[in-house]
Amino acid sequence: MYWDASIETIKPADLQVLQLRRLKETISRAALSPFYGQRLAQAGVSAAQINRLDDIRRIPFTTKDDLRARGREMLTVPLTEIVRLHASSGTTGQATVIYYTRGDIKAWADLVARSMYMTGVRPGDVFQNMMGYGLFTGGLGFHYGGERLGALTIPAGAGNSTRQLQLLQQFGSTVVHIIPSFALYLLNTFAKHGLDPRDLPLRIAFIGAEPHSEEMRRRIEAAYGLKAYNSYGLSEMNGPGVAFECPEQNGLHVWEDSFLLEVVQPQTLEPVGPGEVGELVFTNLTRQGMPLLRYRTRDLASFDDRPCACGRSFRRLSRIQGRSDDMLIVKGVNIFPLQIDQVLMAMPEVGSHYLVEVSREDFSDLMHVKVEVQANFFQEDLKYLTRLQKRITEALKNELLVTPRVELVEPNILPRSEGKTQRVVDKRPK
Ligand code: AMP
Ligand code: ZN
Repeated sequence: MYWDASIETIKPADLQVLQLRRLKETISRAALSPFYGQRLAQAGVSAAQINRLDDIRRIPFTTKDDLRARGREMLTVPLTEIVRLHASSGTTGQATVIYYTRGDIKAWADLVARSMYMTGVRPGDVFQNMMGYGLFTGGLGFHYGGERLGALTIPAGAGNSTRQLQLLQQFGSTVVHIIPSFALYLLNTFAKHGLDPRDLPLRIAFIGAEPHSEEMRRRIEAAYGLKAYNSYGLSEMNGPGVAFECPEQNGLHVWEDSFLLEVVQPQTLEPVGPGEVGELVFTNLTRQGMPLLRYRTRDLASFDDRPCACGRSFRRLSRIQGRSDDMLIVKGVNIFPLQIDQVLMAMPEVGSHYLVEVSREDFSDLMHVKVEVQANFFQEDLKYLTRLQKRITEALKNELLVTPRVELVEPNILPRSEGKTQRVVDKRPK
């Protein structure tokens, strides 16, 4: 049931000892790099002064701007020892680059294999990886993890719906890794061919890379007849395999033997308690080529430190609530895109895609929500559609406290991308 029982069920006290030892090693290692050598000297901290995990707070944070400006100076080894690089998908702004040694690639594959194994994937499974193979970590990261586990791994790549469907049928894939918005989109292709995805041998899906609601997960599970597990990671911490759901589906276990987690209040940067939403901050505990100390992710979530029925010791994260830089302020009200996702995905009439545009008219904010309607509902008469439009407006208003202008559109006409879907466009002058 465990990939590595001695680590996954480690006693909390033993975990702290392991983390402290690895933290000290990581700080010493990071100090070899020009960037951290300077940073740590300026802050007057070295591994010798770290006597408890809490002492990490003496180390300055690392930000995305640091990575953009001085990423190459964070390497602790000569380039001859680097065998791969990946870049962030540039969710916000210019991409940042991460460099991996051979050992880093191996450790990463092991974490992804551990994650997949936790959900029930075993040798003999056929794993179709529908993620972009390229600079994005979701493709190669899961590919190496699947092979490490011993699954037959199909490098399907992103997009290309008809081809994905053919591969699913031809090889009888049992496990997929798929971007949640693409999973819903792919349902149209099944419908077009008169096929029901529930007739396939699929049993497990990994969904991640972009924020999605519980309602969206349920939709995917029901439509495909499988279990969908939330997968969280970011290129700055390797990529996928940072936090992952277990069969209990009640939060994502953080692999705390490899990543030291802090959750902080984004303004004061003080730690928050269990259940409180804050910004995730990670420190690599095992990375060799480019260890990052206290990396501010901008991702918002809360942690739960109560024991999990699966027996794993690691704390669990809530689903990512959004990024601190994604929050919209419309007419003075704070809105997270995930709130909109929850409302829309809970309504069966709503199709697989929607687009939120915020603009300013006559000095007032305007929120315009374009919603694709499921094909069978879109054929209804105008009276029906007007009622539906009113219901969606009401539901959004109740959740957001702002009244949006809702426009119903035909299925499959809103723009899509092969990677993470852009669902919010802020057109207001900065
Ligand atoms: P990248 O830099 O391309 O690896 O993208 C990493 C970012 O994708 C994270 O910092 C999150 O903002 C987002 N992300 C990844 N996995 C998830 C997930 N399961 N739920 C929500 N957002 C996610
Ligand atoms: Zn668990």
